[in-house]
Amino acid sequence: MKPSISQMDVALKKFFGFSSFRPYQKEVIEKIMEGRDCLVVMATGSGKSLCYQVPPLIAGNTGIVVSPLISLMQDQVMALKQRGIQAEYLASTQTDKTVQTKAESGFYSLLFMTPEKACTIPNSFWKKLLKAGICLFAVDEGHCISEWGHDFRMEYKQLDKLRPILSDVPFVSLTATATDKVRLDIIKSLKMKDPYVAIGSFDRKNIFYGVKSFNRGYPFLDELVQEVSKSVASSGSTIIYCLTIKDVEQIHHLLESAGIKTGMYHGQMGSGAREEAHRLFIRDELNVMVATIAFGMGIDKPNIRQVIHYGCSKSLETYYQESGRCGRDGIASICWLYYTRSDFTKSDFYCSGLHTENQRKAVVDSLMKAQKYCLLTTCRRKFLLEHFGEKVPAENCGNCDNCTTTRTERDMSKEAYLLMACIHSCRGNWGLNLPIDVLRGSRSKRIVDAQFDRLPLHGLGKAYSSNWWKSLGSQLISHDYLKETISDVYRFVSVSTKGVQYLNSAGPDCQPPLFLPIIEEMNE
Ligand code: ADP
Ligand code: ZN
Repeated sequence: MKPSISQMDVALKKFFGFSSFRPYQKEVIEKIMEGRDCLVVMATGSGKSLCYQVPPLIAGNTGIVVSPLISLMQDQVMALKQRGIQAEYLASTQTDKTVQTKAESGFYSLLFMTPEKACTIPNSFWKKLLKAGICLFAVDEGHCISEWGHDFRMEYKQLDKLRPILSDVPFVSLTATATDKVRLDIIKSLKMKDPYVAIGSFDRKNIFYGVKSFNRGYPFLDELVQEVSKSVASSGSTIIYCLTIKDVEQIHHLLESAGIKTGMYHGQMGSGAREEAHRLFIRDELNVMVATIAFGMGIDKPNIRQVIHYGCSKSLETYYQESGRCGRDGIASICWLYYTRSDFTKSDFYCSGLHTENQRKAVVDSLMKAQKYCLLTTCRRKFLLEHFGEKVPAENCGNCDNCTTTRTERDMSKEAYLLMACIHSCRGNWGLNLPIDVLRGSRSKRIVDAQFDRLPLHGLGKAYSSNWWKSLGSQLISHDYLKETISDVYRFVSVSTKGVQYLNSAGPDCQPPLFLPIIEEMNE
């Protein structure tokens, strides 16, 4: 049934109090009501939920929503009930059968379920509910179904079992993860038939993106505390994402001691304490939340002004979702990402519990892409949008650190030649450190054992510090002259095809010009 425009507008106003739809909402709702499968890919905060919330209200039957976290379902159910909508959730942990029985009769407009519950609930339940009427089967956070996503969940993979049972029900998958691979995987895994695909823009124009390399601990932490106190005094809330619980606790303690109202959130806290912290933060009773990625989906707070990453996320998808939690109200907001090179060698840590080679490869690829983003010296927004498969404008954004900092460039062809030639001579079985030590004339045991002290290049790079060379190496990686691969915790640097071409067109005394910006770490 195709809904009339007025039916949709009435429902939007009556239940949600909004007077107009946002981009794609109307189209998706129409397609769902015509019975078509839909894949909705839109940025965090763009209003995906409304796409599955409206159809049951118009059709007067039930919409099923699969969602990965109970806390997320609880929040949604509460918010819907406050709007006068009949909503509940089912999870395997519940023993009381009341909700299930009421649900079978079609009592709820929106019925949320964990993927486990959806796959284990008896067929008789679906049969009864189908009789009462199911207008859609939504899979929220749909990227969890893909091994290529950043949040793969085994239980999501089994949702395809429901396809034959709910053969006439439109399947709707929603995600903010936009790579092609993940999109295709969702369509395939859910056995979607000719889905209507709605892809919104991922550009969050009001967010400033900046990246800096840093050393964990002091004196950086003192600067961080000062920065955060300043921003808390002048504007809304801040989230600080850390990679470990230890970092969360340390930063939380420092900020609290500095008199800033700070909460923390991580996976080892009890669910009660986590919910309390979440609530206080949402109500503006806390100015800062220091958290691991556990503080994740469903943070619908409009006035977050700043997201700081104390260490780089494991993928650009995760980073974009986490950083995207600020500025939902459209007001200018800031994201700073601080990274250390070791953030990108944590693949073994992220791989624990993964089973297939594909999954492990996906982790390493994602880390490499995140590293590339950090090392970038060109417009960050363009890079991010390109990564999400969006056509990017020719102009730079003017709202990222690389667009707003003017860096002097100079011809570094001589140095680049030396470093690439040295890596080539060491046969690429090393990271950056060893070839740099060779250039700087080290006679360490490793170098003497491998006879690298006999290379003609040995000692030719003494004029610069090791850190200077590392910065050059990073830039050559980001400009694809060098290639970095990671195996477990080891990173190997080799000369890429582009680099080999450069070496071939150059000799020890004549290199084609290679202008590179002098980045901060190169100022000695
Ligand atoms: P997403 O799931 O895409 O991250 P949500 O569905 O949580 O985003 O929506 C983000 C915010 O936008 C919510 O506060 C929601 O109420 C609001 N919103 C959604 N659609 C509209 C609309 N048509 N008009 C105004 N606000 C909207
Ligand atoms: Zn830019």
